[in-house]
Amino acid sequence: MKKEENRKLTAAEVASAGLVEAGTADAFHTGSWRSQRPIWNKDKCIHCLTCWISCPDSSINIAPDEKKGTVVTGIDYDHCKGCGICARECPPKVNALTMEQEKK
Ligand code: SF4
Ligand code: SF4
Repeated sequence: MKKEENRKLTAAEVASAGLVEAGTADAFHTGSWRSQRPIWNKDKCIHCLTCWISCPDSSINIAPDEKKGTVVTGIDYDHCKGCGICARECPPKVNALTMEQEKK
């Protein structure tokens, strides 16, 4: 019996748990991890897109605009984890993003 437990598993016997399909991150609403949330002030925003480039979670929403090219349209709170990078990178003279305590 002991000899059988110590044998090496064949490839077919190794469990495939932990493997997930590619491209599924959008389906997971990781924003529930957040303790702080960015607040975007559209009246102050100059649409420089620094926040969009900086966000590690692609949680700054943008859209094409006839006059300005591309503009910020808001925050994707389903995926934003509240790291605060966007607020830190928004030009200080503009200050269109501020962090607030998350409301539960
Ligand atoms: S707080 Fe972090 S995750 Fe959320 S929008 Fe800003 S940079 Fe992205
Ligand atoms: S970094 Fe600030 S000013 Fe620039 S697009 Fe983002 S919110 Fe607007």
